[in-house]
Amino acid sequence: MKDYDVIIIGAGNGGLTAGAKLAKEGASVLLLERHNIPGGSATSFCRGRFEFEVALHQLSGMGSVAQPGPLRGILQDLNVMEKLEFVEMDDLYRVQIKSENFNLTLRPDISKVVDELQQRFPHEKQAIKNFFDFLYLFFTEVIGAYYLHDPETSPEKYPLYFRYALKSTQQVFDEFFKDPLLKAVISPYWTYIGLPPSFMNFSDLAAMFFGFCEFKPYHLKGGSQALSNALADTITQNKGKIRYNCGVDKIIVKNSKTEGIITEHGDEITSKFVISNASKITTYVDLVGADHIPEVVTRELKQSRVAQSGFILYMGLDCEPDVVGITESTNFIFGNIDMDKAYQQMKVLDINSQDAMVLSCYDLRDPEFSPPGASQVALVTLKYGHPWLSVPPEQYADQKYRCADQMLNVIAPLYPELRNHIEEVEVATPITCMRYLGHPTGSIYGFEHHIKDTENFIPNKMHINGLLGVGGWVGLCGFQPTLESGVIAARSVLRQLGRN
Ligand SMILES: Cc1cc2nc3c(=O)[nH]c(=O)nc-3n(C[C@H](O)[C@H](O)[C@H](O)COP(=O)(O)OP(=O)(O)OC[C@H]3O[C@@H](n4cnc5c(N)ncnc54)[C@H](O)[C@@H]3O)c2cc1C
Repeated sequence: MKDYDVIIIGAGNGGLTAGAKLAKEGASVLLLERHNIPGGSATSFCRGRFEFEVALHQLSGMGSVAQPGPLRGILQDLNVMEKLEFVEMDDLYRVQIKSENFNLTLRPDISKVVDELQQRFPHEKQAIKNFFDFLYLFFTEVIGAYYLHDPETSPEKYPLYFRYALKSTQQVFDEFFKDPLLKAVISPYWTYIGLPPSFMNFSDLAAMFFGFCEFKPYHLKGGSQALSNALADTITQNKGKIRYNCGVDKIIVKNSKTEGIITEHGDEITSKFVISNASKITTYVDLVGADHIPEVVTRELKQSRVAQSGFILYMGLDCEPDVVGITESTNFIFGNIDMDKAYQQMKVLDINSQDAMVLSCYDLRDPEFSPPGASQVALVTLKYGHPWLSVPPEQYADQKYRCADQMLNVIAPLYPELRNHIEEVEVATPITCMRYLGHPTGSIYGFEHHIKDTENFIPNKMHINGLLGVGGWVGLCGFQPTLESGVIAARSVLRQLGRN
């Protein structure tokens, strides 16, 4: 007799949705989280009179009541919709390219995207229409062949899928367009994946344009912490247990099967299944242990590369956003149009105008997000964790504030008044992300998402009986994919428990 049906390690999006679904369907669940709040990246923290959103800039997959996206149904099923209020954003993004003195805002509506781009790039008018027509047709085929696993998938039925699914974004851009500025203007979502257009799977770019235009980008009142709290409530209201400040030190494996876990406090707790929201590296190397790692996993881990972490400035401003020139919720900032160089700059500790950045402001669409008359801004750039690991501890604080200063200097020509209105500021480095998430080198995107690492080539399997993985290390990162991953894992467990 085991203590629980399922033990879940980590209360990130994946762990929380897995726990909520399992508890709601009657499985006995224990969720263990090393931090003192639920959410992982999907959390908030307070400084002064501000409650800062840690991660969520644009939530995909929600859709409206009239046109629901895949995520809306999942959240409804988990009884959290009634506790949450979603805020629809009215910009897809604004892109600013300093070397070209260029800026443009796109709205989350495909016909407006096409119109706006055609006005700004009249010499590419037909190509723009052809490209977005193609993108929609292609992605419709991706949905059928890849997401819905159509058993009749064939090159005859899904010709675009077979021709383009393994192409890079750059290859497709080059097929349709001549103007390098236009290619840069439609590329910013590569920063949501962490690979520049030359490496990024075109399917990922198509998914984001299609998803955000059809189902719109959202934020929510109370930020992502409200969502994490609501999911945690579903677990406890359905007799599930959550223990915070309780990291897992070991997954017990006997005869290639999980038997339970050992907590950092030395408690041994048994279960039929273990679901891990910790990184895949931590799960196998630290928790399962070298003696039990299957050969196939060692090969997988050896051929994967850990993705970027983030360098983030969380700023509380003493004014409304328009006072400092912020007029859109999501703003991508590039030094120039060379995205490969921007990617290389992510391997360097210091920050300069080559760094790709995204500046998010929630108060434009939700004026109650910050205290009256104030607003908050998150300024993010992706950085690999390694350079930060070699900073000696006694130099860490100086280095962190030096980089924060460099970051503000980069955006100063675009937002000259911003620095004068900072009331509170907190700086997160890859070391901060490592501390709060427990992931190697503080990666916020799991492994790099090269085409060879997609489920086309590596199925999402943990190769130890009773062990399942959820979250950004077993698939794509982002709120929608990680929330979905929890439900997929829960369904698999429920089937094996005979409850579904
Ligand atoms: C700055 C930033 C901006 C982002 N912007 C967006 C955005 O706009 N839109 C979007 O869709 N996505 C965005 N993301 C990505 C998104 O937040 C993440 O992909 C998602 O939240 C990750 O969820 P996860 O399930 O992988 O869990 P994680 O958030 O990685 O959490 C894992 C949890 O497991 C816990 N854990 C680890 N090891 C152990 C252990 N041994 N024992 C117990 N607990 C353990 C950790 O403490 C943590 O709570 C952003 C992320 C960041 C950091």
